[in-house]
Amino acid sequence: MDARDALIAHLNFFADLGVAGVSRDPAWGSRADARLGSERTPAATAGPGGEATEVVDLEAGTSGALFAEAPRAGETPEEIRAALGECTRCKLHRAGRRQIVFGAGNPHAELMFVGEAPGHDEDVQGIPFVGRAGQLLTRIIESINLARDQVYIANVVKCRPPENRNPEPDEVASCEPFLLRQVESIRPKVIVALGAIAARTLLKTPDPISRLRGRFYKYGPALVLPTFHPAFLLRSPERKRDVWEDMKKVRAVLAGSTDEQGG
Ligand code: SF4
Repeated sequence: MDARDALIAHLNFFADLGVAGVSRDPAWGSRADARLGSERTPAATAGPGGEATEVVDLEAGTSGALFAEAPRAGETPEEIRAALGECTRCKLHRAGRRQIVFGAGNPHAELMFVGEAPGHDEDVQGIPFVGRAGQLLTRIIESINLARDQVYIANVVKCRPPENRNPEPDEVASCEPFLLRQVESIRPKVIVALGAIAARTLLKTPDPISRLRGRFYKYGPALVLPTFHPAFLLRSPERKRDVWEDMKKVRAVLAGSTDEQGG
């Protein structure tokens, strides 16, 4: 694909997301109609231009509270991977995995994506999000002017569940400590939880993804934003627009944190 074809593909993707145009106006990057559940108290953090980004505080009982209290262990992702070893901590180790899919990306990323579990392509390549859903995730990342190697990508469980079923609670419980160690190591500013399993695991809530998505949740020193999993978007492309709206919020928060640092 030459540069012209790549540009056309990129613009087609934006059109697919429902993007009608671009603007230098900072307001274009924000959205005024953040929806918040009435039963939860939102706090506010500043976006780029000073506008408020509303944040839901569910933190009591979430793994974010552990993250907030965790001492800076200073572990690198490589050290955590070494600690995981040829893991046999849950039954997924004997369910036909080819290899453990630990995670990939920038160990100092401000933005982290957490999915559910490796699928076939990830199991073969040992890299998260490399199949069709992964290609869509790459385009979603690029839609906010980031490259894949600027973010960190991991899953709740590191081994492929058979028949691509959802990971079971005991499997999540066994693998989750390593996800938390990855989060503590990378210390992202924003974690995008892709789909219900990731959102519920991080936030310790049974709420459906349709209810959780599109809002920021306090998670220790970070914010979690649940959105739809790219695999769901492949089945329901009409929901891409929702993910685009969510990613604009992520972009605004990251731009605000960069401004705070004088960058
Ligand atoms: Fe170990 Fe996680 Fe794989 Fe289970 S899913 S065997 S806990 S690496």
